[in-house]
Amino acid sequence: MNRKTQSSAEIALADYDEVFRDFAGKNLAKIFNDFVRSTGSGGACSSCGCTDWVVVQGPPNGLTGLKYYSVDTGAVEYNQFTPMVIAKCRSCGMSRMHDTGLVHHWWKGRDSKEEV
Ligand SMILES: [Zn+2]
Repeated sequence: MNRKTQSSAEIALADYDEVFRDFAGKNLAKIFNDFVRSTGSGGACSSCGCTDWVVVQGPPNGLTGLKYYSVDTGAVEYNQFTPMVIAKCRSCGMSRMHDTGLVHHWWKGRDSKEEV
């Protein structure tokens, strides 16, 4: 099926099949917390200074992300999707996003003895 006729959901399922399969049934909030602790990318909210974050949950065994369109030089629109872990500040609601593919890559390379 041509990418310009596929829905963003169909593209996500095709492009991120491994991420969907690997993260199905896992605690994404714990994985993300381990990721930010390991990479030092946590920290305080840039808006209010709070350090209490919550991961926005998607559907069961699903992923949150960005749905968008891109346009080529022939003015053809293409559906696009990028899975993102969305973390929201519990105090002011400011949200930030981390590429789920990168979190997944880190998760696959972590110490296999760690259970998530
Ligand atoms: Zn905040």
